[in-house]
Formats: sequence, structure tokens, C-alpha cells
Amino acid sequence: MGMTGEWSALPSANSLWAATAEPARDFPVFAGEHQADVVIIGAGYTGLSAAHHIAQSGLSPVVLEANRPGWGASGRNGGVITAKFRLSFRQIDAVHGRDMARRMYEIAHESTDIVEELVSEFGITSANLTRTGQVKAAHNETTLRAAIDEANWMTREMGSAEVRILDRGGVREETGSDVFVGGVLNPGSGGIHPLNYLRGLADGLARRGVPIFQESPVMKLRRDTDGIVAETPRGVVLARQAIIATNSYSDLTGATARLQRTLIPFRSAIIATDELPRNLAGKLMPTSRTYTETKRMMRWFRMVDNRVIFGGRGAFGKQDSHAAFDALRKAMVGIFPDLADVPLAYTWSGLVGMTLDSVPHIGRLDDRTLFSVGYNGAGVAMSSLMGRYLAALVRGETPELALLDARRMKAIPFYPLREPAVRMVAGWYQFLDAIGQ
Ligand SMILES: Cc1cc2nc3c(=O)[nH]c(=O)nc-3n(C[C@H](O)[C@H](O)[C@H](O)COP(=O)(O)OP(=O)(O)OC[C@H]3O[C@@H](n4cnc5c(N)ncnc54)[C@H](O)[C@@H]3O)c2cc1C
Repeated sequence: MGMTGEWSALPSANSLWAATAEPARDFPVFAGEHQADVVIIGAGYTGLSAAHHIAQSGLSPVVLEANRPGWGASGRNGGVITAKFRLSFRQIDAVHGRDMARRMYEIAHESTDIVEELVSEFGITSANLTRTGQVKAAHNETTLRAAIDEANWMTREMGSAEVRILDRGGVREETGSDVFVGGVLNPGSGGIHPLNYLRGLADGLARRGVPIFQESPVMKLRRDTDGIVAETPRGVVLARQAIIATNSYSDLTGATARLQRTLIPFRSAIIATDELPRNLAGKLMPTSRTYTETKRMMRWFRMVDNRVIFGGRGAFGKQDSHAAFDALRKAMVGIFPDLADVPLAYTWSGLVGMTLDSVPHIGRLDDRTLFSVGYNGAGVAMSSLMGRYLAALVRGETPELALLDARRMKAIPFYPLREPAVRMVAGWYQFLDAIGQ
């Protein structure tokens, strides 16, 4: 079976995270025959958290990773941790009612809590997990009013922890930028070194004896009389159940490509500056939170090791492009003019998996195959939590999955047209942002 997708590309190589991470443990390449209760395909947060929770249940997992653990989105994301979905709780409430909104709210908060639990359970201090909050900064009065309205609704209707409304001066103090008219501070959010978190999980599991294999792509997944067989180039794993944890990289091989059809791949890009001189570093983002714009293109920024990290939409298609990084740089300098002459030290990108209904999906492909995908660009915490729910499904339990239940999932209609569709939607959002709507 042929390899497709980004197989040979190494876009994470030029990331700040790769440059500053703890050394990666070498995991063996899978060979021969191995029996396990559950074979897990993909060593990102979804796969590793599932392996941990399955091992804790007294069952035996084995993890097969096509590249090295963390090669996918889990090793190269922005490390912004938030208790929310792309679909707002207010939208959920309006369409699906109060009980659904409450359950989704609970799931969102469980997801940020589990990151803390896993970091503590495996002692991953190098992940530098902080819970210092997030500022949502508005470019104009229309988006500010919408952000404040949403925040007030969350406090009133969901009993959300007190959010703080920031005026123009308040958001200037928070960000060090003059361009915002106001904003909202959400104290529950946080930040993490995403690759150290991933490596800490992989290392901790390996020390506990959970078998993890690198450079071991599952080329084929097939049923046999008793269970399911995962074939890699040098061997086979025989298991009772399989978990597909390949998210937006599900088309690396044909074995998991079925899931790609439920996702719209969207490239997300990140730039990081050189270390700033001390006087400048002290001026920008002095409150050390994470920051997002109210714009639809989901730009965000944070300060790590005296560097500004700035993320947003990447290039269309399979590879990085200078144009996308230049556009990010221009947006960054628009917010922080002092950065005009500061060189970029790192530029990198990866794919996020968007879904038609803007929420992730977890469940069964069939009686022996489980999956969890579609984090819509907000998956650090959520994929960590889905590992716990996947383990519950493996044990035959029926957790209340609310809108995440895969039975609600819709396949992408006109799938071959998805890339032009992404361009069209992105172009429309950019237009709305430009006219301040
Ligand atoms: C640039 C970028 C920035 C982001 N920023 C944020 C952020 O700030 N906050 C946030 O919450 N979320 C963010 N996200 C999203 C978040 O990173 C993802 O939702 C999350 O990491 C998904 O984890 P996962 O384990 O499901 O998938 P991944 O980490 O992508 O792992 C999938 C793995 O499956 C492997 N694989 C694929 N096919 C096979 C096969 N056949 N056999 C074996 N292995 C296979 C791949 O090699 C890969 O390692 C960002 C994503 C990107 C790309």
C-alpha cells in the first residue's frame, strides 16, 4: 500500500519546541508478532493518553507510531490550553439546550484538569505547565461587544469562574500593544511546552513497561476470527480491539484513511522570534498569559523564553509556504511594531482536523475499532481527555459523550472538493475580519 500525505516531510524540525525539548527517547521499530488487548495507532496525546488509561485498567496496550512519538500535531502545536470548543457553549445551548451545554462545559473543564493530572502523574516538569489565564483581545467595538456578551452569558448561565472585562488601557497593560480596543480575561486557561509534555508521557509510559514503537506505520488493519490484526512493514500485532489516534494525519497510509473523510484538514502555522532584548521582552505580554484575537482566523500569541510566538492560518495544501509565514509576521508587527526589526528564529506548521459541526468525535468505526479525531485546532487538552474516554469504551462502558459522540458525526460531502472549500471559507473569514464584522 502506498504512502501518501506528509510522510517524508519533517516540518516540525524547525520548531522552537524541537530546538528546546528534552532529548527524545529512542523507541524500537516493531518487528515480529505481538499480542495485546488493544493496538493503538498513532503516538500523539490521543494515543498515549489512551495507552495510559488502558494500562491502568489492567489491560495491555501496544502503541505503533509511523514516525517518532510527537511527530504529528502533538509535537508542534502552540501549547495553548483552553477549556472550550470551537463551537461556543452559547451556540450549543441555543441549538441543543441547557443540559447539553452543561455537559459540554463539564467535558471542557475535565480536559484542562486532565493535563494537570497527567503532568503531575508522570512528573513532567519540563512541560512548564502554567494556568495563568488567557486574554481575548478585540480589534474593534463590534467584536469586543460580542466577546463581553459571551463572557457575561458564561458567568450568568454556566456559572463560569469570574471573567474580567478589560478596557483599552487594561488590554494594553496585558499585551503591551496599542491596537486593541478592549478584551476579556479568562483565568482558567494556560500554556505548556507541547513537545516536552508529549515526550514526558511517552517516556513515562515506556518506564512503566507500555510498549511503544516508532517508525512502525500500520499499513493495513484487518479483522480475523478473534480480533483485529495491525500489519506493519516488519510484523503484525494481534489484538482484541484497535484505536485509531491519527487525527489530521490519518491519510499517511491507507489503513486509517477512512477517518480522513470525516475531517477538513487546515494548515496552522507558527513563527517564533529571536530572543528579545530584556527591555523589550519586559514590555510585551508582561502578564505571561496566552492571548488570542477575536478575529475569525484564530491568531494567537504568547511569550516563551523571551521570544514572541505567533500563530494563525498557514498555507493551503501539503507544504509550508514563505507567504504564510510572511503574513503572520506582518500581523505580528501590526500588533507589536517594536518587533519590525527582530528576526524570526523558527517557522513551522502542521495540520489541524476541522469537522463539519466544529466539535471532536469519539466512538466506534465497528465493534473492534475505536477512534477519536477532529479537535478543530483546540486539542492539547481535549485529546488528552479523549484517551481516558477511549479506555472507558474499550472496557465496554458508555460514558456520556454529548456532542462528541461519533454517532452524531457527518462525513464531509463532496470530499474531493474540500481543499477549494477551505480556501473559500478562509477567504470569506478574511474578508469579514477586514471589514470588522
Ligand atoms: C500548528 C498547530 C498548532 C496548534 N495549536 C494548538 C494550541 O495552541 N492549543 C490546542 O489545544 N491545540 C492546538 N493544536 C491542535 C492539537 O495539536 C491537536 O488537536 C492534537 O495534538 C491532536 O493530537 P492527536 O494525538 O490526536 O494527533 P497527532 O498528534 O497528530 O498524532 C497522530 C499521529 O499518528 C501517526 N500516524 C498517522 N498514520 C499512522 C499509521 N498508519 N500508523 C502509525 N502511526 C500513524 C502520525 O505520525 C502522528 O504522530 C494545534 C495544531 C497544529 C497543527
